[in-house]
Amino acid sequence: MIESQLIPRGIKDEKVLEVFRKVPRHEFVPENMRRVAYDDSALPIGSGQTISQPYMVAVMTELLKLKGKENVLEVGTGSGYQAAILAELCRKAYSIERVPELSENAKNILARLGYKNIEFVYGDGSEGYPAGSPYDAIIVTAGCPDIPKPLTDQLAEGGRLILPVGERYFQTLTAATKEKGKLKIEKSIGCVFVPLIGKYGWQV
Ligand code: SAM
Repeated sequence: MIESQLIPRGIKDEKVLEVFRKVPRHEFVPENMRRVAYDDSALPIGSGQTISQPYMVAVMTELLKLKGKENVLEVGTGSGYQAAILAELCRKAYSIERVPELSENAKNILARLGYKNIEFVYGDGSEGYPAGSPYDAIIVTAGCPDIPKPLTDQLAEGGRLILPVGERYFQTLTAATKEKGKLKIEKSIGCVFVPLIGKYGWQV
């Protein structure tokens, strides 16, 4: 996966590549998917949701530019794989999910793997999670019609927000940095994520 998918497509950050070597992706997919866990694609994880393609997880992680001391929020826990990657690269991670079974399942996997710096939250992540804010970095792993305002509000000065923004079935990966209270926006690659369903996302 690393040699054939991530490095050839331009993932360069050694710390990010190292974490992909370490975190066992097969632990985050259903039993009958383990054989294809490292394939170059998103995979179903139940409840109509997916674990994202490895390359997409890597691009988004690299865009966050984590140094190790950050307080991070992930919106869209899904399988918990991205949460594990984040937990390896920051001080404390919060991960919020709107499907309770997925949140519970991810929490169990991460506990079994020994992660102690992740807090799992069940709820509408389009509203962020004020209790853990301000965040040095926020990552949204579901497609947003626009940048949810609460996430901007909960981002620390100098913080990075990475999220797919666009249409329901096609988005552009977007990186925003908060500078003097305003967002500086950079557009990255095209992508396809399941929709962010919630007050500041899509209405089901
Ligand atoms: N990061 C995940 C992983 O590593 O497996 C992949 C996430 S999957 C592509 C998107 C997830 O976002 C789904 O689990 C979905 O239920 C969740 N989601 C959608 N809308 C949400 C919302 N408003 N708040 C929290 N989670 C949401």
